[in-house]
Amino acid sequence: MRRVHYYAASVTTRLYTSDLFLGHRPGPSHPERPERLESIHAVLQRAPVANVTQVAPRPATRAELTRVHTAQYVERVLQSAGTPCELDPDTSTSAGSVEAALLAAGATVQAVQDVLSGAAENGFALVRPPGHHAEEHTAMGFCLFNNAAVAAEAALARGAQRVLLLDWDVHHGNGSQSHFWKRRDVLYASVHQHPFYPGTGAPHLAGEGDGAGFNVNCGLPGAQGDDDYAAVFEGLFLPIAEQYRPDLVVVSAGFDPHRSDPLGGMRVTERGFAAMCSALKVAAKGRIVLALEGGYDLDGLAQSVHACVEVLAGGRSEAFTSGTTRPDTAEALEDSWAAHSKYWRRVKA
Ligand SMILES: [Zn+2]
Repeated sequence: MRRVHYYAASVTTRLYTSDLFLGHRPGPSHPERPERLESIHAVLQRAPVANVTQVAPRPATRAELTRVHTAQYVERVLQSAGTPCELDPDTSTSAGSVEAALLAAGATVQAVQDVLSGAAENGFALVRPPGHHAEEHTAMGFCLFNNAAVAAEAALARGAQRVLLLDWDVHHGNGSQSHFWKRRDVLYASVHQHPFYPGTGAPHLAGEGDGAGFNVNCGLPGAQGDDDYAAVFEGLFLPIAEQYRPDLVVVSAGFDPHRSDPLGGMRVTERGFAAMCSALKVAAKGRIVLALEGGYDLDGLAQSVHACVEVLAGGRSEAFTSGTTRPDTAEALEDSWAAHSKYWRRVKA
């Protein structure tokens, strides 16, 4: 007789990733290259994190994508599957790109659904291509579908009332800002280099109509490190998050503010990313999903992702450093508060 063993289903951190993401090859010298994910996989294999399960993602459905993108745009991308083309001056596709893009959005949706259903404690969608520059009607800045925005919409469809979409990529997430601009069910908050690509993300842009006060931009001039990011979180994001009381936090987790990143001009370390992740995990009361955006220094990216996975899985908790912040960080915080003090109380978290 066959013996069947039953195990109590253990709730763990789920990583949603696939080798199919390596099939997106935007070009031989393109910084958003498959090696980014290979390097993350290698570090996670070399130093496995306990309490982590890897899940093979499924593609996003048309219905999920069209909550964010126009049906015409989704159709255009789907039609181009298998045929390399240029969707935007810096967003080219290869034969496997559309499959990867569908999986990237699907993985992020799945992560959100699993966390909301309690199947996973939290999740990290380790995906390519990234998403936060993709607009409703167009690809942009290495991004095909806006994975995090599609996932935030999926959370609302599943009953969440308020989603905090926090974007720590060094670039501003123009696509996410514009999609949720007039909405309060998703609060978009971004810390980014400014002025910088894509040119959006000025601190006075706080949302409109029903969404007034629910778009929070903090633009830093460059050279900011862990202490400065700590000041932005403790002085701006965490007080607002505490008052917003999100049901879920989705992070557009770009690792291009890393000090070794060739594209960004910031000085954040692995420890800094772990501290941001720790703080958000608390703000989310555990219900948190990270979605990979940028990050172009292979080692800095992989080590920082690893640090965040350790935080998600509960083996690490990193406090913010309390060193000296740059004067221009304090100025940037004042600029953000000038736009937001009429909406939120400026209390220390
Ligand atoms: Zn970026």
